[in-house]
Amino acid sequence: MSEPRLHNVLIIGSGPAGLTAAIYAARANLKPFCIEGFNSGGLIPGGQLMFTSDVENYPGFAKSVSGQELMGAFRAQAEHQGAELVIGDVQKVDLSSRPFKVWVGEDENELHLAKTIIVATGARANYIGLPSEDKLKNKGVSACAVCDGALYRGQDVAVVGGGDTAMEEASYLAGLCGKVTLIHRRDDFRASRVMQERVRKNPKIKLLMSHVVDEVLDPAEERVTALRVRDLKSDRVSTLPVGALFVAIGHTPMTDLFKGQLETHPNGYLKIELGSTRTSVPGVFAAGDVADWTYRQAVTAAGTGCMAALDAERFLQAEH
Ligand code: NAP
Repeated sequence: MSEPRLHNVLIIGSGPAGLTAAIYAARANLKPFCIEGFNSGGLIPGGQLMFTSDVENYPGFAKSVSGQELMGAFRAQAEHQGAELVIGDVQKVDLSSRPFKVWVGEDENELHLAKTIIVATGARANYIGLPSEDKLKNKGVSACAVCDGALYRGQDVAVVGGGDTAMEEASYLAGLCGKVTLIHRRDDFRASRVMQERVRKNPKIKLLMSHVVDEVLDPAEERVTALRVRDLKSDRVSTLPVGALFVAIGHTPMTDLFKGQLETHPNGYLKIELGSTRTSVPGVFAAGDVADWTYRQAVTAAGTGCMAALDAERFLQAEH
C-alpha cells in the first residue's frame, strides 16, 4: 500500500455544497480533494440534483437548466480552479485525532489524511417504497414541489405526508396547480397548527385522511396518470386521477459515517455552530442538506459550501 496523501481540505460529497466548497478552497490555493460518493445512499455523483429534470430556480439561468447540466458546470468549474475530484465511496472516517483519517474504496484500501474535512454528504428524500413509484421518479413522482411543481401547472396533483413539509408542499402547489389532494395515513397531522390551518383553509386543497397510496399509475405510459389509494378504515380502494405525486414523508441525512464522532440533532442532522459551518469537532465543517432540514435548496447548499471553505481556510490559517 502506498503512503497515504495528506490534504489541506478533504471534501466528502459532490452536490452543490461539496462542489462550491471545492471551488472556493481551490481559489484559496488549498488544493482541495473532493470525494464524489458513487453508491452512498443510492445516489450518483452530483447529489439529488442529478435526479431533477428542470431546475428553474437556480439564479443565473433565465430559462431552466437540467440538474445534470448544472452539476456538470459546477464540476467543470471546480476542476478548472484546481480541485481534484475523485469518484469513490468513503467507507470509514476517524476524527479522533489530527490529521483526520478517511478510508475510501470497497476494501477500505485507500487511506487519506486530512487537515480539515468538509462534510457535504446531503440528505436523501424518503419514498413510500412502491415499485411503481420508483419507476415514475422524475416522470411525475417527485420529492420537491419547489423544484418540480411548475412542470404540473394547472394539473391536479397529490401530496403524501402529514408533517410540515407536506403542508408546505401542498400550499405551494395549490398556488400553481389545479386541485391538490393531501393524502395522510392517520387522522391527525403532525405538522404545526399554523401550517395545518393554512392547508385546511385553502379551498384548492382536499384532505384524504387515513389513506395510503398502494400504486402509482401508469408506468406503462411513463407518466403519472392516477393513484390507487386505500382507505385504511374501510380497506376500500379507489382511483384518484392526478398528473403528479409529491412525496413529503421526510428526509434522511447521510450521517452514518460520522455516528458517534460528530454531534447530531435528535432528528439525525449534523449540529453546527450558529452562523458558521463548524461541527462539534474542530477542523470538521458541514455544508448543505446534511446539516439543514429547513431550506434544502441547491442555492442554500451552495451558499453553505462557500461558508465551509472559508471556515476551513480560516481554521488552517489560525493553525499554521
Ligand atoms: P416529518 O415531520 O418527519 O413528517 C413526515 C410525515 O410523513 C409524517 O406525517 C409521517 O406520518 C409521514 N410518513 C412517514 N413515513 C411514511 C410512509 N412510509 N407512508 C406515508 N406517510 C409516511 O418530516 P417533514 O415534514 O419533512 O419535517 C421534517 C422537519 O422539518 C420537522 O421538524 C419539521 O417541523 C421541519 N420543517 C419545518 C418547516 C417550517 O417550519 N417552515 C418546513 C418543513 C419542515 P406520521 O405522522 O403518521 O408518522
